Amino acid sequence: MTIQAIIKNSIKRLELEGKLLTPDFYAEAFCKEAKKAGMNVGDCNHVENLTKTLNAEFQKELTQYRISTMSELVRFLISRLNRTNPSQCTQTLESQTVFTKRVLQVVEVLHNKEASALAQRSIELLNSSPTVGQIDQFRQLWINFITTYDDSFLTMLKSLGTIDTTDLKKTVESLQIPNSSAASSSAISLSKIASLLVASFVPSIASSVNETIASLSERMKKDPAVFDSASIESEIRSVISLRIALDKRTVKEMVQSLDNVLDKLSTRLIAMIERSDNSTVEIQDIKRELESYSEISSGNFKLAHKKLFTIAEALEENTQVLSKDLQTHSNEVLVLSMKVKSLEEELAAVRQESKEDFLTKLYNKRALDEFMQLKESEFERYGRNFSIVMFDLDHFKGINDKFGHDAGDAVLTAFAKILKHEARNVDIVGRFGGEEFIALLSDTGTQGGVMFAEKVRQKVQKARFMYKKERIDVTVSCGVSERAKHTSMKHAFNSADEYLYKAKKDGRNQVAYK
Ligand code: GH3
Ligand code: MG
Ligand code: MG
Repeated sequence: MTIQAIIKNSIKRLELEGKLLTPDFYAEAFCKEAKKAGMNVGDCNHVENLTKTLNAEFQKELTQYRISTMSELVRFLISRLNRTNPSQCTQTLESQTVFTKRVLQVVEVLHNKEASALAQRSIELLNSSPTVGQIDQFRQLWINFITTYDDSFLTMLKSLGTIDTTDLKKTVESLQIPNSSAASSSAISLSKIASLLVASFVPSIASSVNETIASLSERMKKDPAVFDSASIESEIRSVISLRIALDKRTVKEMVQSLDNVLDKLSTRLIAMIERSDNSTVEIQDIKRELESYSEISSGNFKLAHKKLFTIAEALEENTQVLSKDLQTHSNEVLVLSMKVKSLEEELAAVRQESKEDFLTKLYNKRALDEFMQLKESEFERYGRNFSIVMFDLDHFKGINDKFGHDAGDAVLTAFAKILKHEARNVDIVGRFGGEEFIALLSDTGTQGGVMFAEKVRQKVQKARFMYKKERIDVTVSCGVSERAKHTSMKHAFNSADEYLYKAKKDGRNQVAYK
């Protein structure tokens, strides 16, 4: 076939296909006719040849789109050129990556452990310039996550009220979750607790009904939700203390009534004891009966009370006759007690007059005072001098503390003997009080007084004070004064006292004088 025939067929083809005779349509038709005629026209292979120079992916696409003409190829390429600008592409990629990272960061803070962990790992991946393969791997992990995501807890929430799956926060806020942690069983356990509490509110001894207790019990039984009220704790507390108070009051009343019966009983018993010969037998009976009342200790107040009352009544009957007896007796007692009283008064008077110290048998303070007056009169009238020697046992309190008061008494008695023994007949020795003693030495000056004091002091130091086989070391301090050296008896006395104090101060167990 000649080229002219091919041209003719081409134009015919265009006519048949209803296409205009444009260069492009003509070229298309020409190449089809040439191919039909088995003629290889170079120009017709342009598309094919150019296609071969493209990479495999483009070639695939061209086949997909059935691109066969130059103009189609050019349009395809133009569209590609328009779409892909390398710098734009990088920018888009970067912003997409940043965007992805932000989304992942958000996911990370959402409250799902698994999603957070995966998001964190994905961010790390994006930061490390991953390969496509690595990204694909993570894409798969996300797919796995979403396919295994378990939101069955929503079903649980549904049982507690209406839920809004798009706003869990709001849902949770509007849920009526009871205080107890075990949400589903809390209502049951609260009602159990309520009934336990109500039972414990009931006074165990008191029998009266209390309105406060009853009203709280009622409220608790009806509606366990009262446990949510702010005041419930203080209400329970006050009801418990009320319950205790009621019981206490009842116990007090019971004890009081028992007490009354016992009082009566004891009065009758006393009367009986004071009475007749057969009282012992009766008392024994009562004792035996009382012993059998273990109920008293077991708290059975009413029974114990009743029995005691029976005894009291029986006793009352038995003792009615005796009340007269008792009266006569009490008259006798009155007479006797009056006698005793007058005897006591006499005794006190005798004591008042006594000049003897009850413990040491030396003169007592009263006697010493009188003797000092006497000595003073003698001094004033006849100019008879005398000296005063004061003794005070050292650390006597310590002796009492260490060996006991009886030992102290024994030491005082023993010291008194020494004092008496060393004094002359004419000398007066007495106990001025406590562990203080005084000697009034007639016709004696300071020197003589000191000699006497020194003798006593040494004797005491050497003496073996024994109490119940224990040896007690005793020393004494002395102060000496002489009447003639002072303007009055009082001054002389004070001077002796002053030097006694000095002896103590200087170390005790010594004699001091002016
Ligand atoms: P000082 O050396 O300073 O005199 O010391 P002290 O312990 O002897 O003196 P203090 O005055 O502190 O104590 C005296 C003690 O003597 C206190 C008191 O209980 C005791 N006492 C007084 N009278 C008696 C008594 O009749 N019998 C006995 N056993 N003790 C007495
Ligand atoms: Mg003293
Ligand atoms: Mg003393």
